[in-house]
Amino acid sequence: MTATPHILILGGGLAGLAFAVAIARAGEALSGASLKVTLLEAQAFKSGTPNPLDTRASALNLHSVALLKDWDIWSSLAPHCGVIEDIHVSHRGHFGSTLMQSRDLDAEALGFVAENHNLGRYLLERAQGLGVEIRAPLRCTSLRTDQDRPALETEDSEVLDADLILLASGVTPDWFDDLGISIQERPAHTHALVFNAVFPGRQAGCAFERFTQHGPLAVLPLPSTHRHEQRYNVVWSVSETEVDALIDLSDEQFCGRLQEAFGWRLGAVSAVGRRSQWPLVRSLASEQWRAGFLLVGNAAHTLHPVAGQGLNLSLREADLLAKTLIAAVTSGQPLSRISSLRGYLTQVAAEQQFLASSTDLLATLFNPRGVLLDSPRNASLALLDLLPGARAHIARIGTGYRHA
Ligand SMILES: Cc1cc2nc3c(=O)[nH]c(=O)nc-3n(C[C@H](O)[C@H](O)[C@H](O)COP(=O)(O)OP(=O)(O)OC[C@H]3O[C@@H](n4cnc5c(N)ncnc54)[C@H](O)[C@@H]3O)c2cc1C
Repeated sequence: MTATPHILILGGGLAGLAFAVAIARAGEALSGASLKVTLLEAQAFKSGTPNPLDTRASALNLHSVALLKDWDIWSSLAPHCGVIEDIHVSHRGHFGSTLMQSRDLDAEALGFVAENHNLGRYLLERAQGLGVEIRAPLRCTSLRTDQDRPALETEDSEVLDADLILLASGVTPDWFDDLGISIQERPAHTHALVFNAVFPGRQAGCAFERFTQHGPLAVLPLPSTHRHEQRYNVVWSVSETEVDALIDLSDEQFCGRLQEAFGWRLGAVSAVGRRSQWPLVRSLASEQWRAGFLLVGNAAHTLHPVAGQGLNLSLREADLLAKTLIAAVTSGQPLSRISSLRGYLTQVAAEQQFLASSTDLLATLFNPRGVLLDSPRNASLALLDLLPGARAHIARIGTGYRHA
């Protein structure tokens, strides 16, 4: 009797959880055979609801929503999501703006905004419901490549092996070195300042991309918690020299700076939540498979968040890997061999290159010091209106249907 193929996932962030769900869900379709999925996470999973002013959020494109429907998660998550019906793109202090609307794409929405704690909670519940063994909190201390099968060691000195180990542990350079994998990094010398902000009035389902002298400001609609308030998640890309000064401002001073940068389109900012900062480094692993270890999520690729794509890409990859593994199990191929994963690796490399260059292009286009914006800045926004191809390109990145 052949042993049940075992997939071990190291890291229970949003990517690790999504891979666990996708693989366990696809495994349900196997008749006779089955798959064992284990997920190891260093931190205890949090329960409870954070302060609505202090949540973090991700923009989900329509392809991601289709996957979440397929995984039976969307019906629970959807009521907690903000809806993006329109995207308004403009430059502070300059004439000219562009509007992308869901009707341009004949879609119910351009995308949705999920708060990370909700997305994580529903992914975790679904993974547990599908029989994924969750081992948390439990830290991995080293990867083991000296065994017949890929293995890792935990802080309890337990050695866990599997047919395939997914490294969903974020950017962990020491381990990449151990595997002989290098990382191509492109630091942007920019930080994302992330926070929630509240404005008066009813939520109208519009997201804003505003280009300021400091850098782009993405303002994404969140579900309202009070009838007469609109809540937004804001990602403001600022230079590394400015970020600390903005973090150190009092809430009142910071609201003033935000108002100055964003303008009055949504009225007066009435509150802001806790500010956090993320250095924006675009990185791609030179190889994503080595000796039975497969890099996924941020470990494989970290994209500039200007187009909100990192997680969306990981969800698509989770779906593709799940299908690849099921095909391999069905045809009796060993999961630890690269030959079983070659099709997956080729497809994801092409997609990752496309998205990395697209998001780099957007980051350059909208960088305050960028060449294209040195010309009258409104010109590039007008360009989006004049060139339906360029607009469609950005919209396609947004919807996630590259080939649509
Ligand atoms: C400001 C910002 C905004 C973004 N907005 C969007 C967006 O709108 N849309 C979008 O698609 N993407 C967005 N992204 C990208 C998205 O957040 C990430 O792609 C996503 O969170 C996936 O991360 P991950 O799970 O790969 O890594 P992480 O979130 O880093 O998770 C790694 C996990 O591994 C665990 N781990 C690490 N080491 C060990 C160990 N030794 N033992 C056990 N466990 C370990 C960690 O505890 C952690 O839980 C954004 C990113 C940023 C920075």
